[in-house]
Amino acid sequence: MEYKLLRDTFVEVNLDNIKYNIIQVKNFIGHNVAIAAVIKANAYGHGAIQIAPVLIENGADILAVATLSEGLELRNEFNDYEILIMGYTPDSYLEIAVSKNLTLTIFSLKQAKILNKLAKKLNKKPGIHIKYNTGFNRLGYKDLPESINEIIAIINLKNIEVEGIFSHLALKNNVEDKIQYKRLVNAIAKIEKHTTPLKYKHICDSIGTVLHPEYHLTMVRPGAILYGLESEGKGIIDLKQAMVFKTKISHITKLEVGEGISYGYRWTAERKSKIGTIPVGYADGYPRNLYQKGIVTINGKRVPVIGVICMDQCMIDLTDVTNPKVGDEVIIFADGANNTLTVNEISILAGTNKNEIVSRIARRIPRVYIKDKKVFKICDYLTKK
Ligand SMILES: *Cc1c(COP(=O)(O)O)cnc(C)c1O
Repeated sequence: MEYKLLRDTFVEVNLDNIKYNIIQVKNFIGHNVAIAAVIKANAYGHGAIQIAPVLIENGADILAVATLSEGLELRNEFNDYEILIMGYTPDSYLEIAVSKNLTLTIFSLKQAKILNKLAKKLNKKPGIHIKYNTGFNRLGYKDLPESINEIIAIINLKNIEVEGIFSHLALKNNVEDKIQYKRLVNAIAKIEKHTTPLKYKHICDSIGTVLHPEYHLTMVRPGAILYGLESEGKGIIDLKQAMVFKTKISHITKLEVGEGISYGYRWTAERKSKIGTIPVGYADGYPRNLYQKGIVTINGKRVPVIGVICMDQCMIDLTDVTNPKVGDEVIIFADGANNTLTVNEISILAGTNKNEIVSRIARRIPRVYIKDKKVFKICDYLTKK
């Protein structure tokens, strides 16, 4: 059955743009570097299950997620594909990860031994990547001689396969990035004196990939750039933003001078005003702190969001809009054409970054997928797939 849109507030996700972006990344990194396509957080709000096939068809070697449940969600749909969980998986969850052939991130010999035992019991040989901490100090082995010894011991365990080693750049500046990179490659050199070469060595996220081609090693882990969220080094890779966020006017009301709007009447009319309501609020992922800063676009005209943003709705000042009507399209963000805000611009207004804006688009926002310039699929939480 063709699934119908059930809400005026929705995001469009352009799969053609995602395809375009991964091809650009692929061309930029060349054939000798693999891609771990980062689709954690439901592919930054774009919908991991829907995005993954486009990435797989166009050159992703590994799908990378943050958590076990994200890995399991993908495993249900993509039986054979390599899925890397980049976060920490506690011991009590290892069994399900192994039984579902998920690749784990490990950074202790103690856990590696538990995994090794479990693997033997389950008659499996799970793949793992070692996390090496080169300075970010989030997860991973500290850059110390005893860490090298532990990693070699892990590699020597019989029932697990160490497929990779990786670190994460803090992106403080070029000097610090280089120090981090050097720490990783020096550690790898010491490890590989005692073992066969590791397959996947990686340190670059999107910004690292774009700014530091010399640090690509054998794999990169781009996230944001796959969705066309341009990082620093704008223009080095040509990208197309994949997500557009839209709604429609649900109500229009006229105010006399002095009448208030929303909680606390924190906005009051200084002139006779025409106020529109739009059915989007902070529970949809529209940041509440856009109070006094929010802007939407109607028919190519920028319109201010006024009053306190509610959980499910907010108000806009239509006084200067010619003949607005209930049902008129309102663009919350798009690609910047026709006076729309980009994800970048709205993130600056909200005092956050682009990834936070898209990854917090709520589950109750339907996703409309565009492929070959046509509506390809509509998904919301009533959709099974
Ligand atoms: C999220 C994440 C990435 C991707 O980050 P982007 O900045 O979106 O490219 C890469 N590596 C790790 C370990 C991550 O957690």
